[in-house]
Amino acid sequence: MSHSLVTMSYIIASILFILSLSGLSKQETARRGNYYGMLGMAIAIAATAFSASVTSYTTLIVALAIGGAIGARAALKVEMTQMPELVAIMHSLVGMAAVLVGYANFMDSTIVLHGVERTIHEIEIYIGILIGAVTFSGSVIAFCKLSEKISGKPLLLPGRHWFNLLLLIAAVVLGGVFLQQTENGLGIVPLAIMTGIALVFGVHMVMAIGGADMPVVVSMLNSYSGWAAAATGFMLSNDLLIVTGALVGSSGAILSYIMCRAMNRNFISVIAGGFGTAAGGEAAVIEGEVQPIDADETASLLLEAKNIMIIPGYGMAVAQAQHTVNEITKLLKEKGKKVGFGIHPVAGRMPGHMNVLLAEAKVPYDIVYEMDEINEDWAHVDVSIVIGANDIVNPSALDDPNSPIAGMPVLECWKGGTTIVLKRSMASGYAGVGNPLFVLENTRMLFGDANATMQAVLKALKG
Ligand code: NDP
Repeated sequence: MSHSLVTMSYIIASILFILSLSGLSKQETARRGNYYGMLGMAIAIAATAFSASVTSYTTLIVALAIGGAIGARAALKVEMTQMPELVAIMHSLVGMAAVLVGYANFMDSTIVLHGVERTIHEIEIYIGILIGAVTFSGSVIAFCKLSEKISGKPLLLPGRHWFNLLLLIAAVVLGGVFLQQTENGLGIVPLAIMTGIALVFGVHMVMAIGGADMPVVVSMLNSYSGWAAAATGFMLSNDLLIVTGALVGSSGAILSYIMCRAMNRNFISVIAGGFGTAAGGEAAVIEGEVQPIDADETASLLLEAKNIMIIPGYGMAVAQAQHTVNEITKLLKEKGKKVGFGIHPVAGRMPGHMNVLLAEAKVPYDIVYEMDEINEDWAHVDVSIVIGANDIVNPSALDDPNSPIAGMPVLECWKGGTTIVLKRSMASGYAGVGNPLFVLENTRMLFGDANATMQAVLKALKG
C-alpha cells in the first residue's frame, strides 16, 4: 500500500475514533459510537498490515491469530461483573507493549540517528518505558484488587509521599544518566533501574488506594494506558498510534477528573498517586435493629406510593436483576406511578456500569437521573428501592469524618419516605464500611438475591 494511502487511512481512522468517543458520551448514541470505533480499528489494522513497515507477514499473521484468539475468548467468556477486571488487565497489556517496544527500539542497531534527533529518540524511549511500566504494574494490582485476589484495603506505608517523591527524583536523575551513557553503550543500566523504579511506583500507587477510591484509579490507569500508547507511537513513528493514544489519554484524564469531582477528591493528589483514605480515626460502629420486610409487603408499599425511586448498585449486576427491574418499572408505570432511577457516578465496578445494565434491559433513558439531579428532590419520593447498592447510599460518608468514604457525595434516599434495601446479608460493600442506613427508622431490609426478590415482588404486584 502506498504511503499516501496509508496516511489517508490513518486520517479516516482518527476521525472515526473521534466520532466514536463523541458517540459514547451519550446513551442514545453509544451503540453508534461503538460501531465507529470498530470500523476505525479495522481500517487502522488493515492499513498497518499492508503498510511498508511490515517486513514479515508470517510473524504478523501468527501474532494477529494469537492476539485475536485471546481477545475473542476473553470477550465471549467474560461476565458483565468481570468487565472492570478485564479492562484493568487490558490496560496492563498496553503498558507492557510500550515497555517491550521501548526496549526493542533501544536495542535496534538498524536505527542510526545523530545529534538532536538521537536525543529526542532516546527521550521517547525513556518516557515510553517509564509510563508503560507504571501502567503495567499499576494495572496488574488494580486487576488483583478488583477481582479480589488481593485485599482492597489500602497499604499505607509510613512516609509514602516521600517514598513516591524519591522514586520520581530517581527516575529524573536516571534519565539524565541514560542520555549520557547511551553514547558509550551503557544506557541499558539506568534504563533497567528506571524500569524497576517505575514498576515499584505503579504497585505502590495502586496499593495505597483504598476504600471507595478505586474508580478514580481505574480511569486514571485508562488515561496512563493512552499516554503509553502515544509514547509507543512516537517510538514507532506511527501517527495513528500517537493520535489514538492522545485521545485515550486525554479522555481518560477527563473521566478521572469527573470521577474525582463525583468522589469529592483532589485531582492533583490523585495524579501524584498520593491519595487514599482521608480518615484519621476509627469509623463509627453501626448499632441498632434492622427491620426485615418480605416481597408481599414490598409490593403493598409500592402500590401505595406515588413517586418511586430505584437506586441500582453492584448487587444488581451480580444478580442480573435489571430485566426484572424493568418489568416492575413498566408495571408500576402502567399503574400510574412515577418511577425514576437514581444513578451514582461510582455505582457498580466501572464508570457507567449501571447505565449499561439499564440500557441492556431497555429501561427508557428519560427516567434515568444523575445523582445531582435527584439529591434535591428526596422529599417528594415516597418509596426508594436500593437494589444491591451499599456504599453509594451510606449516610456515614456525610456525617462520620472518620469513615473511609468520608466526603464522598451519596444518594440521600433516607430523606425520602420509606427505603427498601435489597441485599443478601448485612455484609458491607466494596469500601468495607458498615452502613447506618440499614438500621434507620424508615428503612426496611428485603434479604435475598436481588433477582429472586425482585421476581417475587413482580409476582406479588401482578397478583
Ligand atoms: P457496593 O460494593 O457498595 O455494595 C454492593 C452490595 O450488593 C453489597 O453490599 C452486597 O451485599 C450486595 N449484593 C451483592 N450481590 C448481590 C446479589 N446477588 N443480590 C443482592 N445484593 C447483592 O456497591 P455500590 O454499587 O453501592 O458502590 C460501588 C462501590 O464500588 C463504591 O465503593 C465504589 O467506589 C467502588 N468501585 C466502583 C468502581 C466504578 O468505576 N464504578 C470501580 C471500583 C470500585 P450482600 O453481600 O449482603 O448481598
